[in-house]
Amino acid sequence: MKNILLIHTGGTIAMTENIDTGSVSTTKKHPLASEDAIISQFAKIDDDYLFDLPSPHITPILMLQLGQHIEKRLKTNRYDGIVITHGTDTLEETAYFLDLYLQTKKPVVVTGAMRSSNEVGSDGLYNLISAVRVASAIESEEKGVLVVMNDEIHTAAYATKTSTSNIATFKSPQFGPIGMLTKQKVYFYHKWISLETYQVESITKNVPLIKVYAGIDQTLFNAITATSLDGLVIEGFGQGNVPPAIVDSIEQLIKNNVPVVLVSRSFKGVVQPTYDYPGGGKQLKNAGVLFAKGLSGQKARIKLLLLLESNCSPDRLETIFEA
Ligand code: ASP
Repeated sequence: MKNILLIHTGGTIAMTENIDTGSVSTTKKHPLASEDAIISQFAKIDDDYLFDLPSPHITPILMLQLGQHIEKRLKTNRYDGIVITHGTDTLEETAYFLDLYLQTKKPVVVTGAMRSSNEVGSDGLYNLISAVRVASAIESEEKGVLVVMNDEIHTAAYATKTSTSNIATFKSPQFGPIGMLTKQKVYFYHKWISLETYQVESITKNVPLIKVYAGIDQTLFNAITATSLDGLVIEGFGQGNVPPAIVDSIEQLIKNNVPVVLVSRSFKGVVQPTYDYPGGGKQLKNAGVLFAKGLSGQKARIKLLLLLESNCSPDRLETIFEA
């Protein structure tokens, strides 16, 4: 049997529902603690209760603490794989942060639940067992951080929460899951080709994410850019375009050496400098905007944050984002 470290951070998987009111919240005793007998049929488990937070309370500073905790525990050489339980709201951001931060070939799997522990059809224990099975599989090595929910295995870079409440919420719209679980086996169908890591020691930078919309004017944009920014991610339209009203502010940021990264609010495809009109991608590219290929806004923000924290030069930023 493999040795798996199970790190709990909170989320619905750690919560129970009040049967009278329907409200869902944390409890004194972690609901999965009483399931050890079942989980230990699949691996030898050590539990670390690191945080007990709903995932909207998770910040990049806490993600770094989690990453450092994993690093420390891996150095003991006791574990064949790591499983992290996490709230689903920001699970994809934590998973991608760990993907870019951790330097390990061992399987690191993040899972959660859409239904709390005592709800009918609760998916917590099932997803946890699936995550332990994936973390125990030799085939899961060197795949970066994986997201396992609802019998599917996704990469941290492309998994995203697509439904507010459906248990099949995590999807990778661009390429699909890279693997799946059946009752008997763990299968991988795609090879993960992009293993990149950035060592950081602290999280200090201010990198907001802004989504454009038809008719956006300068007001909101100016309010954000008036704060001391270290970088900005913009979710633009389609192939990578924004309304002309915000172009001057973008150009000003770039003149002030603040990197501006563009992604698309379309959730498939890649941004590219195609259109040559004010706010069009070609003009944004000429002004020095960086085009982040295929990442969502929230993932591009995590990546820019880590790159800035690791003192990446502007040239390297461009190479990394546009690769
Ligand atoms: N709001 C919850 C959280 O992210 C949702 C969940 O865990 O599924 O903590």
